[in-house]
Amino acid sequence: MSAFKFCPRCATPLETGAVDDGPPRRRCPAPGCGFVHWDNPVPVVAAIVEHEGDIILARNAMWPPKMFALITGFLEKDDPHPESGVLREVEEELGLQGKVAEFVGHYPFERMNQVIIAYHVVATGEIKLGAELVEYRRVPPAQLRPWPAATGLALRDWMLRRGLEPQPYENEALRSIRDFHPIDLTLATAGQPTAEQFFAVRAGGYQTVINLLPETSPSAIPDERAAVAAQGLRYHHIPVEWEAPAKADFERFCQVMEAERGRRVFVHCAANKRVSAFVFLYRVLKQGVPPLRAQEDILRIWQPDAVWTRFIEERLGDAA
Ligand SMILES: [Zn+2]
Repeated sequence: MSAFKFCPRCATPLETGAVDDGPPRRRCPAPGCGFVHWDNPVPVVAAIVEHEGDIILARNAMWPPKMFALITGFLEKDDPHPESGVLREVEEELGLQGKVAEFVGHYPFERMNQVIIAYHVVATGEIKLGAELVEYRRVPPAQLRPWPAATGLALRDWMLRRGLEPQPYENEALRSIRDFHPIDLTLATAGQPTAEQFFAVRAGGYQTVINLLPETSPSAIPDERAAVAAQGLRYHHIPVEWEAPAKADFERFCQVMEAERGRRVFVHCAANKRVSAFVFLYRVLKQGVPPLRAQEDILRIWQPDAVWTRFIEERLGDAA
């Protein structure tokens, strides 16, 4: 991911190779130079800005329309503490005087090679957008819809601590996927995406794809594994026969879900029917979600037929 082609010290073209038994890095081969581009993550401060009871989300001039996020910025060399850095950003970008109310947490932002250090900042004054921002939005805390990555995860945690229930994240590209139905901030379900739609899956913040559709299904796409890998997503294929779902399939699904815990998972089949049943069972049996609540999500997709009703009852029976 490095942007360096030449050594910034001696202008020799950089090479890629291991340094001290570590992972491959861009390094300078010139004798006596020794430059290594370590590419360590960069700390970024983020503010959940509360102003007159609302949360202020802002849109950067470089971003697409409708994309609003927290106030973020890099630390300056002479910032004595990340807290003063985040207050400086709030003042520069919104023209507000802020006070740190709470440290929310730190969050990896792998795609940008950053570590987000997030704070809740209570701010006063009149909003005046800085040069980088073009628009802002006031959102009452209960109506926030955190996006499933980086600063959105900070917002989710902040809401949960206040007893607010974050709404599942959706956008137009995700909604255009057949039978897309997000369950919560870490789990979404759907029917078969096209190869191109896996871009939207990645852009929506998902990290892992689980496919329950057999390759022989007429709805399957050719070489899904490659389409998913092209987006840098993790992939698990657990083919489930429509007419004969097996206990072993569900057990394998549970193992994969367990192994992927902490990642944001996108599960699909052809029309979200197999998936809605598997996810219902997983939520009830492994996550302790009340059956009536988990049932709402299955019924939004379909009313399970005789084969699948029996399959669901048998798995609930196994656990009883
Ligand atoms: Zn060099």
